[in-house]
Amino acid sequence: ENGPKLTLDNINEAVEVHFPLCIKSIHEILRKNHHLKYDCKMQYGIFLKCSGFEYEDAMVFWRDEFTQKMDTEQYDKKYLYLFKHQYGKVGSRLDYKPYSCQQIQSWSPGPLQHHGCPFKHWDIDKVLKRCENDGLNNENVGFIRNYMREGKYAEACTTYFSASHRIFKENLIESPNQYFEESCKTEGA
Ligand code: SF4
Repeated sequence: ENGPKLTLDNINEAVEVHFPLCIKSIHEILRKNHHLKYDCKMQYGIFLKCSGFEYEDAMVFWRDEFTQKMDTEQYDKKYLYLFKHQYGKVGSRLDYKPYSCQQIQSWSPGPLQHHGCPFKHWDIDKVLKRCENDGLNNENVGFIRNYMREGKYAEACTTYFSASHRIFKENLIESPNQYFEESCKTEGA
């Protein structure tokens, strides 16, 4: 693979610029709570793995967050396995492929769960407020509102991408990893 590579050194910067809203919001919850529920761990963990985030970096990344709220022993016993599994190191040794937006949008996160697609699963007002806070202008916020009302989630996410990068993006977002890769390509453009 010669796509963009996420590392422990560049992840904080990448979150701001290159992560789609679904992953960005999960990342923020992780930094705040030092914990994630299962589906968030999967959505974020597979995204990281498919963004070239190395196994060794992932092991440090998750342990550093989770052990802010528990001791290492408890972490190793309860949580380490899943993160190893995501890299095909244990259990069924699956080679996970990126989740598509369609897959993610077919999930049904409960009220206290944070996985899924914001454009599909959040209240419209929450998304619009977030977009305003992220610096999108009224026109783009209006486009996103209309797309969400029409159930056009890919269009809404693509508008978020275009507005954040101040470019016009023609092809639609199909997966969080595609968002990341295409975002990295806009750098310096
Ligand atoms: Fe994430 Fe896809 Fe939703 Fe965008 S459309 S926020 S990449 S799931």
